[in-house]
Amino acid sequence: MTSVFQLYINGQFEAGAASFNSINPATGQVWAVMPEARTDEVNRAVDAAQQALSNLEWAGLTASQRGKLLYKLADLIEQAAPRLAEFETQDTGKIIRETSSQIAYVAQYYRYYAGVADKIQGSFIPVDKPDMQVWTVREPVGVIAAIVPWNSQLFLSAVKLGPALAAGCTVVLKASEEAPAPLLEFAKLVHAAGFPAGVVNIITGFAPECGAVLSSHPQVAHVAFTGGPETAKHIVKNSAENLAKVSLELGGKSPIIVFADADLQSAVNAQVAAIFAATGQSCVAGSRLLIEESIKDQFLEKLVERVQRIRIGLPEDHATEFGPLCTLRQREKIEQIVQVSVQQGAKLLTGGYAIAGDGFYYAPTILDCSAAPQAECITHELFGPVLSVDTFSTEQEAVQKANSTPYGLASGVFTQNLTRAHRMTKAIRAGIVWLNTYRAVSPLAPFGGYGISGHGREGGLDAVLDYTATKTVWLRTSDDPIDDPFVMR
Ligand code: NAD
Repeated sequence: MTSVFQLYINGQFEAGAASFNSINPATGQVWAVMPEARTDEVNRAVDAAQQALSNLEWAGLTASQRGKLLYKLADLIEQAAPRLAEFETQDTGKIIRETSSQIAYVAQYYRYYAGVADKIQGSFIPVDKPDMQVWTVREPVGVIAAIVPWNSQLFLSAVKLGPALAAGCTVVLKASEEAPAPLLEFAKLVHAAGFPAGVVNIITGFAPECGAVLSSHPQVAHVAFTGGPETAKHIVKNSAENLAKVSLELGGKSPIIVFADADLQSAVNAQVAAIFAATGQSCVAGSRLLIEESIKDQFLEKLVERVQRIRIGLPEDHATEFGPLCTLRQREKIEQIVQVSVQQGAKLLTGGYAIAGDGFYYAPTILDCSAAPQAECITHELFGPVLSVDTFSTEQEAVQKANSTPYGLASGVFTQNLTRAHRMTKAIRAGIVWLNTYRAVSPLAPFGGYGISGHGREGGLDAVLDYTATKTVWLRTSDDPIDDPFVMR
């Protein structure tokens, strides 16, 4: 039976201006009908958020009461995690092993920001004027447009909604049109948690009539965007319309550097997780392996052997380790880049083909690019299960190759040498350096990129300040009359 989803605007569920089909990437078949928000729905959602901002049902809550609503939401997410995971798996093809553990952990993000809500403080400023008292307060910045890509939508929206709601903002969240099911289902939890109407609105739709209208809307104060760098350019252009603040979490071409002294088995497993977990559709995918020349053959032999044992299967099967890509378009792009890279001199070590059948599967692929360091697979983000390999002989060469990308989201370094590990953390230009591990996240730890991987940080304490505006209050404490109006105080 085909599932039917709804938009969530001003506390009501509704069908949208039109509808469109969502495909299950494992079967290539339609599994659900999605509601489409167009200009009218976007405008109503933003209006509702704007109204809710000053409505006392929300604006009149104490910070601790806002926190309490977030705690409630976290509990509901935990309870609903199996259902949400099933929807995410059907809509995106991401394996159930990952969706169920990731969604259960999403609750922790809301709990963390629930606890932060009543710790957002202003300060007292000891100004150089004896008859003045000056202090600052942190106020909600306004309506937030949160725009997310299709992968890990519950997680990527939690890092926006958690701090934004803790700060007292209201939100219009746009789910990706590629796989909106998990967020449209999540709307039911927002409703059940008891957030006043209009505080959180959840919509989906296409770029021109939904994403562009939302990000350029005059009542939007901050656009919190996660997606690709090309879309980000449109978002920045759109923000010229409303002069909204923009934070960007974009893609990556993250290096994993393995030194000869590393624990090789751990490094192999971490590399497999880095590029083949989530079928490589992860912003932090470790898609460039830089391996010390002296251990190249030994390491690649172990790596290829492990990759060829990856269990490919239906994403809803708990034994499956590797599922399909989210869309056919995505698979075609990967096929094309791999083909071009081989023509440019990259050598296929395993994979390199689409798996026959109705689903959008592409085999786990490793390309040795040591003879073709400018191959497309090494310079472009593929957002798929393709690892490019290159070598280095010295620490300086490793750093130079790691940094030879306009991206700078994540990186991994594998070595047992403590002093070298410290030098590497300083030398690598990326928002995250994982030492002897990869793909670990926590609500307490900031997350974000350098270069074209974006700016702004999500996660951690500071993220909440991004959703506040500082108001400075001046109080004159003297009872003497204000005398000369032409002298500045
Ligand atoms: P995308 O950029 O195509 O789409 C992201 C969102 O932007 C979608 O909701 C889409 O509808 C919307 N959008 C598209 N055009 C728009 C416009 N003109 N105005 C406003 N909104 C518009 O990304 P995708 O293909 O869904 O996801 C893959 C990309 O996301 C990859 O580059 C990946 O690295 C990146 N990503 C980054 C992070 C991170 O935290 N850094 C996390 C996950 C994914």
